[in-house]
Amino acid sequence: MIIIKQGGDEIISGASMKDVPNILWLEEIRKEDIISVGGKGASLGEMASLGLPVPRAFVVTAQAFRRFLVETDLEEKIFKSSDQLDVENNAALEKTADAAKTLVMKAKMPAAIRDEIRKAYKKMSKSDLIVAVRSSATAEDLPDASFAGQQETYLNIKGEAALLSAVQKCWASLYGARAIYYRAKQGFDDRTVNIAVVVQQLVHSEKAGVMFTSHPITGEPQTIIEGSWGLGEAVVSGSVSPDNYVFDQRTEKVISRNIANKKVEIIADGDHGTKLVDVDSARQDALVLSDEEIAKLAMYGKIAEDHYGVPQDVEWGIVAGTIYILQSRPITTIGNKKEAQGMSGQKQDAKIILQGQGAAPGIASGKVVIIRDVKDTGAVKEGDILVTRMTNPDMVPAMRKVAAIVTDEGGMTCHAAIVSRELGTPAIVGTKTATQILKNGQLVTVDGERGLIYEGIFESAAPAKAATTAQGAAPIITATSVKVNVSIPEAAARAAATGADGVGLLRIEHLILGLSKTPGWFIANHKEEDFVKELHDGIKIVLDAFPGKSVWVRTLDAPTDEFRNMAGGENEPIEHNPMLGWRGIRRDLQSPDQFRLQVEAFKRLWKEGYDNLGVMFPMVSHPDQFSAAKAMMRDWGVDVENATLGIMIEIPSSAIMVEDFIKAGINFASFGTNDLVQYTLAIDRNNENVADMYAPQHPAVLSLIHNAIQTCRAYNIECSICGQAGSDPKMAAWLVEHGITSVSANIDAIAKIREAVARTEKRIILEAARKCDAE
Ligand code: PEP
Ligand code: MG
Repeated sequence: MIIIKQGGDEIISGASMKDVPNILWLEEIRKEDIISVGGKGASLGEMASLGLPVPRAFVVTAQAFRRFLVETDLEEKIFKSSDQLDVENNAALEKTADAAKTLVMKAKMPAAIRDEIRKAYKKMSKSDLIVAVRSSATAEDLPDASFAGQQETYLNIKGEAALLSAVQKCWASLYGARAIYYRAKQGFDDRTVNIAVVVQQLVHSEKAGVMFTSHPITGEPQTIIEGSWGLGEAVVSGSVSPDNYVFDQRTEKVISRNIANKKVEIIADGDHGTKLVDVDSARQDALVLSDEEIAKLAMYGKIAEDHYGVPQDVEWGIVAGTIYILQSRPITTIGNKKEAQGMSGQKQDAKIILQGQGAAPGIASGKVVIIRDVKDTGAVKEGDILVTRMTNPDMVPAMRKVAAIVTDEGGMTCHAAIVSRELGTPAIVGTKTATQILKNGQLVTVDGERGLIYEGIFESAAPAKAATTAQGAAPIITATSVKVNVSIPEAAARAAATGADGVGLLRIEHLILGLSKTPGWFIANHKEEDFVKELHDGIKIVLDAFPGKSVWVRTLDAPTDEFRNMAGGENEPIEHNPMLGWRGIRRDLQSPDQFRLQVEAFKRLWKEGYDNLGVMFPMVSHPDQFSAAKAMMRDWGVDVENATLGIMIEIPSSAIMVEDFIKAGINFASFGTNDLVQYTLAIDRNNENVADMYAPQHPAVLSLIHNAIQTCRAYNIECSICGQAGSDPKMAAWLVEHGITSVSANIDAIAKIREAVARTEKRIILEAARKCDAE
């Protein structure tokens, strides 16, 4: 591999050490020079030669370092002690490392090398230019070994003296304890590893970050960009959660933007070093990159990847609208070639025929069956791809059979999305034109994560359902309860397998509506007992799956249009806007017959000993509604003072009046953000034309939630969330920070929500401990 021998004047790769200068300018460097300039230097030189916007730089070569070792007589001393070292002996390792570093730091840099560095620095700029001084170990970034991060980088260096000292510090860092240990474990002989130092104009990035030129896990042609404010160190070191953008190279579109709350940034600190400062509030939640910048970065990334022939991990920075490429090296995480092939290999050549919102994860291939009327669902066969304008509860039997579901309408909280997630069936909603573009019998592949529909079948997509079955319970304990949402009893076992702390929402309308008869039909046809039994049996399945854990069962909440196609649907009122109409508690209070049957089912379950059953009322807008419901239950024989009764907070009025609800006797409250967002922002949650304005993190929504949480905390009332926003890790983290008691998420989101909750709780504890220490 690298064959630099002790003594410094041995032959290396056909070139004599004596031939290589102490300094090489970026323009002179090609990747073959890795032995002299290290991976970083070689890569920068190559990139500059491709015309990529790389800041000016020169490299103090590895040969300069060797000459330094030889001329100062350090070689023998350093290598002798490392030869005898047992790297598993921590104390000895630290001692040897310290001794070697001290030797390097104390030695006088040979005059010739010093002068050449000074001269090169002057050549960069007449006035003292601020530079970054980066170590570049000469075995670094080889395809089979990454030394990245083991040697030092010094930012914001100004003036000759500071520069010379930084170069020497970089040299010394070759003998850091971690670096020595790593090399020993990887089988590198210390004598054969060198260090070059890149001296580069420091770009005072206003925003910066990293970019993977291909997907780091699957190898797909997607550019993943992470960016935040200030210097890129904040992103690289993990001191800030950066924005995350995904650019699809096939469609040349930004397909995902995850805007993080960027609390801190690293900026230059005077003439030397950097400092961590708070980001002003206006920029904390602002988008770091425009689509144009993302596309340009992706293009530069592609140039680098094409040139090197392997996906690259690129550092970038932007100043006054100018993009700089700061570093590029091969991605080491696409280590397993087999992983990168298979499905993604096939997808590279596959044609995307349609796009929508990825609503339930998983990939499945099959034959398209277009359903224009529920009566046609008989045509649906096991493994088909169900394509329809929008699913209805009476389509659930067909939804159970299919491999994937695609709809024209709807967003993340529509019926198709909710049920598909529970069934573990990949789904894409809001495509607008699926029922027109796709043809009956056409073979397609649906990617329910990314919302993409491909032409043809991917063999490896066949076991899609297996891929989306429940994730096992992760052994993470959280103080905030992490619960799960359930709508169909058959999902109860999968839901319980997540290890969730209970059910934060059981939507019972799916139990009823799956029967294809309206509650009114059961009453009109004197089949009340059937209705009660259906409810009782369905709820019991869920209660049995969660012994000893609370299960909040929500009373009926289905807009009138969802009843229309069922037996009895002809008697449903035609409403101009069913979302704002006769649904939830307002309908039950006016239809005591319907409400009483539900209460009858609850009563039987309580009598059977299911104390873990709590009842939650949807669409309450005034405490009087809660009091009225409670009074009716009391009249029907429920021990309301001992029953667990709560409300959904999904109308702004209930968020604002939560204290009055508490005084009226609620035991818990749960944010139904699907509705709370639509009623706060006047955005129809099922209307794909305004889907991009549907914003659970809108300040008005967050303010309502924040205030309601604080009130619940003041009264020691359990406060939860069961809307879709609770399945978003960022939102879950925000809720924990603001004091929520529990979070109820979809089955497929439990693992990541649990992790986000745990991480946030740990951070809160750590910050509190640090604050205590500081006081
Ligand atoms: C909500 O509104 O957030 C909610 C969970 O209820 P649904 O989606 O059933 O309206
Ligand atoms: Mg709701």
